[in-house]
Amino acid sequence: MAAAFELTKPEHKGKYRLTVYQLGWRLGGKGASGRGPGNRIEEHGLHLWMGFYENAFRLMRECYAELARDPKTCRIADWRDAFVPDNFNAVADRTPSGAWLPWKVTLPPLAGQPGDAIEKAQRWTVADYVSRTVLLIQTLLEASQVRAGGAAPDASSSRSRPYPTTPDAIAEGMSRLLRYGQLGTFGAIVEALRLMQVAVAAGPQYPENLVLQFQESVAQAARSQLEALIEKDDELRRVWEIVDLSLAIVRGVLRHGIMTHPQGFDAINDYDCREWLVLNGASERSVNSAFVRALYDLAFAYEDGDVSRPRVAAGIAVRGSLRSFFTYRGAFFWKMQSGMGDVVFAPLWEVLRRRGVRFEFFHRLENVRLADAVDGESPSVESLELDVQASVTGGAEYQPLIDVGGLPCWPSEPDWSQLVDGPRLKQEGRDFESHWDHRQVAKKTLRVGTDFDLVILGVGVGAIPHVCQDLIARNERWRDMAQHVKSVPTQALQLWLKEDMKTLGWNDGPVNISGFVEPFDTWADMTHLVAEENCREPVRAIAYFCSVLPDGTPVQMGAASYPEERRTEAKENAVRFLNKDIVHLWPKAADSAGFRWDVLADAGAVSTPAAAGEARLDGQYWRVNVNPTDRYALSLPGTIRYRISPLDPSYDNLSVAGDWTDCGLSQGCVEAAVMSGLLAAHSISQSPPLEEIVGYDHP
Ligand SMILES: Cc1cc2nc3c(=O)[nH]c(=O)nc-3n(C[C@H](O)[C@H](O)[C@H](O)COP(=O)(O)OP(=O)(O)OC[C@H]3O[C@@H](n4cnc5c(N)ncnc54)[C@H](O)[C@@H]3O)c2cc1C
Repeated sequence: MAAAFELTKPEHKGKYRLTVYQLGWRLGGKGASGRGPGNRIEEHGLHLWMGFYENAFRLMRECYAELARDPKTCRIADWRDAFVPDNFNAVADRTPSGAWLPWKVTLPPLAGQPGDAIEKAQRWTVADYVSRTVLLIQTLLEASQVRAGGAAPDASSSRSRPYPTTPDAIAEGMSRLLRYGQLGTFGAIVEALRLMQVAVAAGPQYPENLVLQFQESVAQAARSQLEALIEKDDELRRVWEIVDLSLAIVRGVLRHGIMTHPQGFDAINDYDCREWLVLNGASERSVNSAFVRALYDLAFAYEDGDVSRPRVAAGIAVRGSLRSFFTYRGAFFWKMQSGMGDVVFAPLWEVLRRRGVRFEFFHRLENVRLADAVDGESPSVESLELDVQASVTGGAEYQPLIDVGGLPCWPSEPDWSQLVDGPRLKQEGRDFESHWDHRQVAKKTLRVGTDFDLVILGVGVGAIPHVCQDLIARNERWRDMAQHVKSVPTQALQLWLKEDMKTLGWNDGPVNISGFVEPFDTWADMTHLVAEENCREPVRAIAYFCSVLPDGTPVQMGAASYPEERRTEAKENAVRFLNKDIVHLWPKAADSAGFRWDVLADAGAVSTPAAAGEARLDGQYWRVNVNPTDRYALSLPGTIRYRISPLDPSYDNLSVAGDWTDCGLSQGCVEAAVMSGLLAAHSISQSPPLEEIVGYDHP
């Protein structure tokens, strides 16, 4: 969608005519949502937008501006109606004795809004990130000093004293502190950190050995000051864990020469993040802290979905974290005020439709066929083979949206009445989004020169082996990519509750929390959506959960019964989780028999009103994302170099787009998908200029 939006901008003067071929009835892929019984929102999983998603927010701001909805008739008329700042977050911490103790943090709002004019956005270098990391350590140590009973920094503290600014004086300052072993107090450590911050921000003009030696002494000194205090104080322990991880990042950047390395953070992508942090001095306690667990959980970073094998490439994880914490604008997270389909893909469809983009729903790509090889020429796509899953009555254009109280939304199932033989297709239970349902009404072949000139391939990475056999067979890079860039299935659960969160025992405001138990390690309070829906029973709270799902074997995945089996498994997971685990977050949601099933509100037509006990779960929503294209793209260590760039010229008339590509972020998230779409557009039209894609700082 990002590529389509870019290529149809007015400045191209209609040069590109686009058709989007989309399986099923809705846009959005892993971000697609629908309206189910009682107009309830049904997502693939919980989706939060981060405050550093500069490109994604810019796209949506432009989209809403062009849409020009009337706020009097549509409640989501402006991008600010669609996305609301959300700064209250938590990680599911555990005390040394093993009790759950969520660490709740309100992150301060930062200046600006994501997507503000590009020239105002700071370009971050590795040196900038490290300098900010050192500043963070300094701030946290000062706060710890106060908490541990030390004096608050005042006018006489090191922070307010003038300090050397010339390179020679700073190097001399560092040598002096090292020589005399003067790092015995918090004050001296904080002063040392100030010197270090200047030194790292200035880049390579200081002898690397000196800075590294200095860093190691500072880390050692900070450790001996704090480690003795943390056993008795959970707050200090958490601060220490962040300090310890930050010190390891600084040390790793210095040791691996990342500031001057042409690949920047990507130079360490062969390490797993935890492994790299330990290698650079982080303690076992810190790398297993709630904060790091949440980092893995939020990225579903478990190879084959196996929670005993957490793995994420160090460069991707470290850069992603530093970008998340230091470069967000407005808020750390932004929450959508309706389903992702409704606030993102419906407006995009409307604007693109107005611009003349054609949408061919119910078209499933089956194969990308290459032309025969000709010596000296780049191979190219000759045809696209598609299954037509359904035809629209009278050959009309399918109208995909429904009206929910004035808001155009996607339904959770197609509008059968628009389809030829719709009632029959419905009765037969056609599942247009299922990889296992291959029923179709026709086949269609699009030919180069006649039906298209250029292709942007936007399927999820898991679908590539199924539709790109030719591309994989003919090109080693594609073969490597298909082999190494892996994905995992995920599971999601949504609950509608008759009691508010306080009554259920969560005494703070609406929160996003990760790092909790499997099978559902992440929970977001989505109560703000109550007004969007019309449940049969009054709803006081809405909760979304999601998590990785262990992978199936190839034999299991080959069976037609596979998706239903996994859905049953996810339901069993939900029952177990609610009976056993949720009590640690919602202490009043359970009684001696387990979860109080009667707190579940019946959303609509799924269960009978009389349903009681565990059967009430049937009125809730859960799903497994096991379709190959719906699998979440991982950033495993040692695999990032195998990603293919949308700018890759291997195939003459084909560009790829998606979060699994080499797009400057290489993480499974909305921002990566948008960056990739912008690059795909660039590969065709040289627009947008690469320097306008924020965060695309590849050499
Ligand atoms: C459970 C879950 C939670 C997530 N939470 C977040 C979050 O909080 N924040 C965040 O930023 N990201 C989140 N993500 C990641 C985010 O959803 C993805 O990064 C993003 O959707 C990727 O977009 P994409 O265009 O690359 O791929 P997709 O979204 O997978 O889109 C692929 C498109 O190709 C279509 N397609 C596939 N195969 C065919 C075919 N054969 N023929 C025709 N069309 C086809 C699909 O229908 C879809 O339209 C989450 C993902 C999951 C699974």
